[in-house]
This record gives sequence, C-alpha cells and structure tokens, in this order.
Amino acid sequence: MHELSLAQSLIDQLLELAGEHQAVRINRVVVTLGPFSGIVQDSFAFGFNILKAERPATRDAVLEMETPDPEYSCVECNTLSVIPFPRQSERLELARCGLAARKCPWCGSNRLSSRGGTELILNQVEME
Ligand SMILES: [Zn+2]
Repeated sequence: MHELSLAQSLIDQLLELAGEHQAVRINRVVVTLGPFSGIVQDSFAFGFNILKAERPATRDAVLEMETPDPEYSCVECNTLSVIPFPRQSERLELARCGLAARKCPWCGSNRLSSRGGTELILNQVEME
C-alpha cells in the first residue's frame, strides 16, 4: 500500500527531527498533500495513526492534512487557473473523461496542463 510507506517515511522524518531538536514528544504535524500526488487522505491518515503508536515520541501526534486545489495552465491563452476538485459525486465522471473534461475558465479551451502538486510536504511540526 502506497500510503502506508509514505506514512512510514513521514514518521521516520519526524523521529529524526525530534532527535535533532531533542524533543520527546510530537504534538502536531501539518502536511500538504499535492493535488496530483494520488495520495488517498483516509488511507494515509489510517497508516499514520497505526504507525505513530509504535513510538512514544509520535504516539500523540495529531495529523493535519491540507490539500491545495490543483492549478492548471491553459495551452491556448496561457492563463493560470485554479480549478477546485469536484465533489465526490462528480469524481467518477471525471475519472471516466479524464482531464479533458476540464475547461479553461477564461477561453473555454480544454487544453489544460496541470502544474506541480505531486508531492507530500511536511509543513509544520510542533514538538516539545
Ligand atoms: Zn484559456
């Protein structure tokens, strides 16, 4: 499971940070999941919550996830737009038609290319 190994590497990163700062406890972690990362939030949180229990330093860590809306640049008019993710009910439809279903809000072109947002970023850690 992809999310589990990502959660494991996050925990490893946290333990390393705690070591560097001589912290004994991590209270809160904020990560940004890139909109194109393909990470399933629920699975990631599930994995994190299982793995964090194995170490005293991370046992009480609260995970917060942020998912920024994806950005696209239009091939026709060069405008950069942010197009929010569709509601759950629209997702199946979107999965079927792919990105072509999205249109540039400025010129109506469907020639959009997605920009960045494929990564998991550790944003903020609170420890003591
Ligand atoms: Zn356009």
